[in-house]
Amino acid sequence: MLNIILMGPPGAGKGTQATRIIDAFHIPHISTGDIFRENISKGTELGKKAKAIIEAGGLVPDDLTIGLVKDRLSQDDCKEGYLLDGFPRTLAQAEALKAMGPEIGRPVTLVIDITVPDEVLKERIGGRRVCPKCGASYNIHSMKPVQEGICDRCGAELIQRKDDNPESFMVRLQNYYEQTAPLVAFYEKEGIYHHFDGMVGLEKVTEQVAELLKANR
Ligand code: ADP
Ligand code: ZN
Repeated sequence: MLNIILMGPPGAGKGTQATRIIDAFHIPHISTGDIFRENISKGTELGKKAKAIIEAGGLVPDDLTIGLVKDRLSQDDCKEGYLLDGFPRTLAQAEALKAMGPEIGRPVTLVIDITVPDEVLKERIGGRRVCPKCGASYNIHSMKPVQEGICDRCGAELIQRKDDNPESFMVRLQNYYEQTAPLVAFYEKEGIYHHFDGMVGLEKVTEQVAELLKANR
């Protein structure tokens, strides 16, 4: 069963790999970042609460985030697997996910962690452009869309995220090391942790990840 968590610092290539994984393995992509951004653009209550926090690079409070993931994981399309991207990001979220796994019958089976050195992350984030409609990401230096400014997958106009500025990035990186990095030990202990070096190139990472997923399907 492919009940997957995708983790890694901002800019490690999570979003790109996520798009490839869901296209190849046909499981739903649950990106908490995408869900928050959707709520912000629709102006929902959740969006109003999350907007300033996200733009500054902070973490949305655990209670809001956990409830949202629980609702999403309980939906029917997650029965045959799911790809969680951007969750859990704190130890409390990981504990909550573990507790909700058996309850909804969908415990995590694989953790994929992609890492890249800080200097590279910073560079990548500056050039990142994303599709607000399907979540695909591009880079104006290294991963251009076929037609400038337009998403290859769905044709929507690409944008630069508000939190992809140097100040917010530094906050995100610091949160990552303080709050999210401890999850490595947590999932190593569970025996489901798999590390991938994000510096070998996007294609190579995709290949290596696909191999792991095929073996565990
Ligand atoms: P990144 O590209 O930095 O990995 P994401 O798109 O996953 O970013 O998330 C964007 C922002 O949404 C985060 O910086 C954070 O403010 C908020 N967010 C996303 N997932 C979570 C979470 N699990 N817990 C708290 N905040 C979250
Ligand atoms: Zn798109």
